[in-house]
Amino acid sequence: MSDTTEIVVPEVAGRESIADLVRKMIVQLGEDPDREGLRRTPERFEKALRYLTSGYGQDPEKLLNGAMFSVCYDEMVVVKDIEVYSLCEHHLLPFFGRCHVAYLPNKKVVGLSKIARLVNMYARRLQIQERLTSQIAEAINDKLSPQGVGVIIEARHLCMVMRGVEKQNSMAVSSAMLGAFRDSKQTRDEFLSLVRGK
Ligand SMILES: [Zn+2]
Repeated sequence: MSDTTEIVVPEVAGRESIADLVRKMIVQLGEDPDREGLRRTPERFEKALRYLTSGYGQDPEKLLNGAMFSVCYDEMVVVKDIEVYSLCEHHLLPFFGRCHVAYLPNKKVVGLSKIARLVNMYARRLQIQERLTSQIAEAINDKLSPQGVGVIIEARHLCMVMRGVEKQNSMAVSSAMLGAFRDSKQTRDEFLSLVRGK
């Protein structure tokens, strides 16, 4: 998937760059930042981190603008298995998994690929899984004013599995249900059964 939304990199004059700080961190870890394998690591890390947090430079307004259509369709729209990669704000380590999004349109729908881009936009920030889940739901609720929206994220957190806090395969599951998805068990069950593929 290509992200064409502009990435804004805030530069603060006079402050140490992320690369400078990473170099210091490598020293603190007892490593030699000048050895061959590590020499360009600070710059690589900064570049990677800027990309992984590029969602700060994007906003849902711009992202969804021009991709919304008026329709008479009022059946549930479901986008399953959107890959999610984010960074946990407590450990700055990745959490990743799948996101399922559904909404019941109210005369307005949005291009399906935009849903995945919206997920990416919020995932590429420092996050906790629960907030990521509700931000996606709230953005769709705000922009499309649907009859309801449901978002489920199933993710593995490296801060847990790598440190042995949880069993290797354990998934954290979070959900946000708004409107009809909150009020109607039938709507919620339809979403859940579509997600489970039964
Ligand atoms: Zn964490």
